[in-house]
Amino acid sequence: MSSFDEKPKSLLDDWCMSEKTLSGRTAADGLLATISNRLNESKSEASLTIIQVGSDPASASYIRQKKKASEKSGVRFVHCHLPSSSNFLEIKSKIEELNGDQKVTAFMLQLPLDTEKAISKQEVSTLLNTISPKKDADGLHVENQGQLMAGESTATNWTSPIPATALGIMRLIEHYKISLKGKNAVVVGRSRLVGLPTAILLSHEGATVTICHRHTKKVNEICARADLIVVAAGQKHLIKAEHVHSNTIIIDVGIHVKEDGKLTGDASPEALEKCKAYTPVPGGVGPMTVAGLVENAARLSGVKL
Ligand code: NAD
Repeated sequence: MSSFDEKPKSLLDDWCMSEKTLSGRTAADGLLATISNRLNESKSEASLTIIQVGSDPASASYIRQKKKASEKSGVRFVHCHLPSSSNFLEIKSKIEELNGDQKVTAFMLQLPLDTEKAISKQEVSTLLNTISPKKDADGLHVENQGQLMAGESTATNWTSPIPATALGIMRLIEHYKISLKGKNAVVVGRSRLVGLPTAILLSHEGATVTICHRHTKKVNEICARADLIVVAAGQKHLIKAEHVHSNTIIIDVGIHVKEDGKLTGDASPEALEKCKAYTPVPGGVGPMTVAGLVENAARLSGVKL
């Protein structure tokens, strides 16, 4: 049974304070275990190929996490490494090769591209749209984004790939039985990768969604009226105590390295202290993004979840 039923048990109505931290690690483990079970039952073979260009250390770390999660759920992982001397046409040609390879059921291009000669934003977009929509593990092909926009593919009725972070956020909401129907959700950030797809998915599940971006005035007042805030602005500690009330749930997508080397998010410690529940950084949206990607890859191989 879906967690998005007509009358779900609402997290906002009866929340146990001992669970103030919404662990993405726990929710991701659950999702990866489900994928593993379904793959075993269906005896399907799923794979995930990642194209990495250059050797950006952050990308290398994300790829290691994706490899670990894929292997945990029984999805075969392939790392396709291109040198930083690669140009636009060489990367495009690798994508076309993978499109035509029957053994490759799902793949993605790890961003940002670490190339010696800069590749323009428009060229990156062209590369993403060269990936076959039927193998688009990250859900960034314009055709898949259109399916999402039209409500053809949603978190509860997945028919085509959904951007991994947005899908992961929806699976976390589902895991913690956070009811969305009739709730006010504010999404801070409207990127193609995170903010916009998340806002659309929340809306499809019955939330009333407001999107804030860098030109929005009085973000604090808009957030203060929200039941749920998803913050993906890439601005350290943007969400302060004045943005939240004691019933607010915060889903923090931002990742920043503090001076002491530890990670923190877009929500300030004061906001986290005051709110009802939040996803931690690290260990919140990060593992869910990886699990969302593995879910797309498994489904693209035909597995039903
Ligand atoms: P982006 O830079 O593409 O988009 C940022 C968005 O935030 C823009 O729409 C911008 O208008 C808005 N914004 C910026 N400053 C703002 C402000 N002061 N007030 C309101 N809106 C503002 O970034 P992105 O790719 O969407 O990523 C956002 C953050 O999430 C980054 O910190 C990124 O590292 C992180 N991220 C984390 C994960 C994860 O798995 N945890 C995944 C993807 C991105």
